[in-house]
Amino acid sequence: MPPPVFRFAPSPNGYLHLGHAYSALLNVDLARRVGGKLLLRIEDIDATRCRPEFEAAIYEDLAWLGIGWEKPVRRQSEHFARYLEAVDALSARGLIYPAFESRAEIAALVAERERAAPWPRDPDGTPLYPGMAKSLAPAARRRLLEQGVPYALRLDMAAACEGAQDLAWTERGEGPGGETGNVAARPQAWGDVILARKETPTSYHLAVVIDDSLQGVTDVVRGRDLFWSSSVHRLLQHLLGLPQPAYRHHPLVTDASGQKLSKSTDATALRELRRQGATPADIRRLVGLPEGPP
Ligand code: GLU
Repeated sequence: MPPPVFRFAPSPNGYLHLGHAYSALLNVDLARRVGGKLLLRIEDIDATRCRPEFEAAIYEDLAWLGIGWEKPVRRQSEHFARYLEAVDALSARGLIYPAFESRAEIAALVAERERAAPWPRDPDGTPLYPGMAKSLAPAARRRLLEQGVPYALRLDMAAACEGAQDLAWTERGEGPGGETGNVAARPQAWGDVILARKETPTSYHLAVVIDDSLQGVTDVVRGRDLFWSSSVHRLLQHLLGLPQPAYRHHPLVTDASGQKLSKSTDATALRELRRQGATPADIRRLVGLPEGPP
């Protein structure tokens, strides 16, 4: 049997904080326990927020923590052509469509709908797509594309879920409501999710399932905030014929007021803690992990 493959997949849009340290060290500990490998993946598809200095800091902070990873590191921004193939395949099956509304137009549509009744939201609290682009006449769609109007490529969730009613994933951790074991996927809760944009031919959801498959990841260990995203991931794996890893969603490290840590607050950034004299052993203690390699 090939060894299990784990991965830590940060986005270089800020400095790593205690929450990242917990996730990365938990991956290390679990991989070590089963003789597995640990990959590092840089999730840098968002060119407006990702910066080279944050990527450099990721390598530095992880090395300081004593974490080693397999080389080469996969950087998502180098693989847009691969993601586009998947977009094209889904498009050829009529499962995605371009939606041309701007963010402001979508917000206005939601506000209008909400005058009648509460509009449904996805598990992250974002209103579901309220637009009608799915039923746009082919000629109108072509005209907008020819005019170069920006668009988001959305998954036709109803069509995508046809014949995919019983999808589930293996959860070795716990969801926000204590869900564990065999968890039923509920991708419909996300509505017509964005899978790509005109300027970026992928999205978090699409890139993550393609990469986990291409990299042979068997064990996804990540924060509980991504628990319900796994519903979309499971559906995409089904649609694209990709294998499914096992998942373990771990609790989030919170600050003194119980809030999820944010990349923009310096206080819990690893480099700040290091500057103040913290050692890697202190970091393990701070996030509640047992001392040293198990
Ligand atoms: N890149 C994501 C983040 O930094 C993690 C994605 C994942 O582990 O699936 O939150």
